Amino acid sequence: MTQKEPVPMGQKGRNMTLDTILEEIKKAEKIVILAHETPDGDAIGSCLAMNLAVKALGKSADVVIKEFPRVFDFLPGRDEVKTESNVEQYDLAIALDCADLKRLVGKEYFEEAKQTIVIDHHGSNKMFGDINFVNPVAPACCQILIGMFEYFGIDINKELGTCILTGIITDTGGFKYPGVTAETFEFTAELLGKGVNVSDIYKRVLQTKTKANFELMKRTLNRMEILEDGKVTFTYVTNQDLKEVNAGIGDHEGLVELGRDIEGVEVSIFIREKDEAENTYKVSMRSNNYVNVSDVCLMFGGGGHQRAAGATAQGTIEEVRDNEFVITNTEVTGSINIIKKFNWCISIILSNREIK
Ligand code: AMP
Ligand code: MN
Ligand code: MN
Repeated sequence: MTQKEPVPMGQKGRNMTLDTILEEIKKAEKIVILAHETPDGDAIGSCLAMNLAVKALGKSADVVIKEFPRVFDFLPGRDEVKTESNVEQYDLAIALDCADLKRLVGKEYFEEAKQTIVIDHHGSNKMFGDINFVNPVAPACCQILIGMFEYFGIDINKELGTCILTGIITDTGGFKYPGVTAETFEFTAELLGKGVNVSDIYKRVLQTKTKANFELMKRTLNRMEILEDGKVTFTYVTNQDLKEVNAGIGDHEGLVELGRDIEGVEVSIFIREKDEAENTYKVSMRSNNYVNVSDVCLMFGGGGHQRAAGATAQGTIEEVRDNEFVITNTEVTGSINIIKKFNWCISIILSNREIK
């Protein structure tokens, strides 16, 4: 990997936040790179890309990811990923693709670190770092990294490009979500020219289903309820399902999309029983055209993007569906009194609100 000459400090066209990030990376001896729980392609791609970038700057870092979905095993640098670290205090912790400290895996390393950086693209980002570089318009955290690395003078070669493109392909649903920009395609075209196998990445991360994912898909489709005059779908998987189909890390990915893709459906709701605590559910929501599901999930202590968001809830499946559940991890404790149902909440939005 070669390094281009960065623009000298104080020169026109400089960005102070990026300058500070570069300075912090160059100054740190011990660096840790972290991402959000149940990491997706953007979280994984961002971490591995940042690891390569740190190396290109002549430094090294620990990438700590507890649960690494095997679909991303092909990515460069995967072998270096640790599930935990015994370093007591890092000089610098970098959180990627994560809106909220409570969702950060390895937050103990982040909290103890001397300096912290948050790089993200969630509109609901809580700006929990000492330095925050957040662009809610970027379709993927990985896309933010392109501009950042170019600014740092790092050559985005085949390996780095493969990690970045994995994040972009997964977070844009294969270039099909509205957040995709001209830069997304320009960068992809450039990488194709550099020998990155776009079609292979696409096939591995979006097209190929594990057997367990296929089995879960059958179950979720069979159970799907169509609510609110066909505008909302609801379905779920339990721990029992996950055990029976021998599901591994990440095998639930994509199930929330099934409902959203039905004609006339505006919002799909998918819940997954969490492993750690019985009766605790991960809620996932997707919308099509006008419901801001991030707003809905924020009211339940979660967050995300306008068209893809999540939260955590506690109760039975029926209670979660009808919103008679306990809200966990929420800082908006009063909301339980106001919001009685997901469906109620969504139906208000369905009737009152249009997002351009
Ligand atoms: P998921 O449904 O898990 O694929 O998540 C969809 C989007 O919402 C992703 O960008 C997540 O990072 C975000 N998200 C999911 N769950 C939460 C949560 N509990 N709090 C904040 N953001 C979340
Ligand atoms: Mn993500
Ligand atoms: Mn993302």
